[in-house]
Amino acid sequence: MDDEPYFYHPLENIEDIDEFETAIERTHFNKALSEERPYTYWTLEIYDQENGIRGGGGLGVLAADTRRVAEQMGVPFALITPFYPAESKQILKDNKVADEHIKVDYHDFGFRLIDNVYVKCCGNLCKLDVIEKRFKNTRIICVTEPNFGELYSGMSGSDHRLYQEVSLGFGGYSALKLLGLKPAIMQLNEVATFFAALARLDELASNGMDFYEAVVYTRKHTLYTNHTLVQAAEAEFSEEQFERFVYPNLKSPAVKKWLKDKFENSKLKLSSVTIEIAELRSGVSKLHARVANYHDISGNKVKFRAITNGIDFDKWVLPEALTFYKKYDIIDSIGLPTANYKVALDNLTSKTVREIKHLGREVLNEVLSDRPDQNGKILHFTDQDFIFDFKRRFVDYKRPDLPFEDPTRLKAILKSRDAHYIIAGRIHTGDERMAARLEKLLNTVKNDDYLSAHVHYIPNYDEKLAYGLSCGSNVAINIPIVGLEACGTSWMKDIANLNLLISTHDGGVADVSAENYLNVHGTSEAEELEELYRRMEEAISAWENDFDLEFLMKKQLAAFLPVISGARMLNDYLEYLF
Ligand SMILES: *Cc1c(COP(=O)(O)O)cnc(C)c1O
Repeated sequence: MDDEPYFYHPLENIEDIDEFETAIERTHFNKALSEERPYTYWTLEIYDQENGIRGGGGLGVLAADTRRVAEQMGVPFALITPFYPAESKQILKDNKVADEHIKVDYHDFGFRLIDNVYVKCCGNLCKLDVIEKRFKNTRIICVTEPNFGELYSGMSGSDHRLYQEVSLGFGGYSALKLLGLKPAIMQLNEVATFFAALARLDELASNGMDFYEAVVYTRKHTLYTNHTLVQAAEAEFSEEQFERFVYPNLKSPAVKKWLKDKFENSKLKLSSVTIEIAELRSGVSKLHARVANYHDISGNKVKFRAITNGIDFDKWVLPEALTFYKKYDIIDSIGLPTANYKVALDNLTSKTVREIKHLGREVLNEVLSDRPDQNGKILHFTDQDFIFDFKRRFVDYKRPDLPFEDPTRLKAILKSRDAHYIIAGRIHTGDERMAARLEKLLNTVKNDDYLSAHVHYIPNYDEKLAYGLSCGSNVAINIPIVGLEACGTSWMKDIANLNLLISTHDGGVADVSAENYLNVHGTSEAEELEELYRRMEEAISAWENDFDLEFLMKKQLAAFLPVISGARMLNDYLEYLF
């Protein structure tokens, strides 16, 4: 059980929590990290193919990068997540995407079985395997069972999703006890992990701690990281679902009552209770933290601390580029920009940029060697080829088809340099609308011989493809509708690997001012499109001119290196938490 802090001010009800906190202000909360008391990170999704777990997008990439950065920084860290025994792989057939389902066995990825834990669901005792993989000061702890299903299978308010979330929360919390770990801090990567904090609250309240003390204790040690903009869009669970999946796992009648009281019209959004159980709350970029529109149960707007996502440079940066940054003291051994990094960037010449790009292109060719485009063609690029890429999940707000609104114009731009345009992006399983839009885009391309030979869609977007493209292309295009991207991390990989970035001013890109990259803005979509085309022309000419290339690359790196550094991100979290 957790070390019990000493409180002598039992209160009547939870509404007095502010008063309670004032009363205990002087109490010392022990959040010091140690091997037995790690930083715990809870996530339904991790994107970590090396360790056998494929994610869906940025939220999972962030989780995997956070653990790796913690390892480099020597932070005791435990990441708790499900191991999905199946995953989907996207293939393309006649310009239509289809999902193939593949079985995954954790034994193939170095996990060892620790023991079993149980959660109660629908009157049954569900047995979960607890498996673990250790890495120096960090570990990945998973709960799993053969019928656990795939990541994001079923609708977000479905029974199966609730089962997965309850298994992670209650099962994962039991797994920590099994391993003799006490969480110093619980970081909840989105509200689907709420049940982990609930399990802790229940544990404290049912083991002798006064309920209100237990609430304060849990609140003080829980960080809720939000990636979503609008609370209204979140799926709800019904009380009837909680009767079957959640309440049976609670030991404390007080916790059960507390939870029951949170339902409105027998419906509950997990964000409303996550806000209640986590006093620390963060958003994933400056803009996102400002605009995320969340309210607590009393109707007050929730404040989020801005902690912009970062990437693990060791994972995402071409080794030769990383060696260059370290050799010239641009970044230090853990990946933080040095105090002097802006001056040190003077060592970057266009010659170096081109040398690094040459090596990056070899990596891209290697990645593409077994991944044909929509025409079944294996692509191979020389140093003379010019590549634009658009690599991100194929969702509406990212506007993957915007550049194809005027195919004649796009063709003229590509023709001026005989350039290629590579698209990679997963369509959410079952998203018929986006599948139809991709099909339409590919048919536009197919109907034109030039476009057909220069616009390539590579199916089954994953980490490897993301890495290959960020190393090997010249220009990355990132044009979300302004206000809708929480942060984005693909563009960070591009900055670090010396691509020119064309972007709207959104997500983490908007952490710095718009003059630091090839900005797309406009008061209408038509204006933005026009600006995008002009920026594409500008990017082509910048790569032809050593002076411009060097100037733009230095400017991008000077502005963004601190933003994109994963070590900077983890430092920000540690500073906020401790
Ligand atoms: C980096 C990465 C992402 C993140 O994408 P954003 O749209 O920038 O958040 C998603 N998927 C994969 C495979 C990635 O490598």
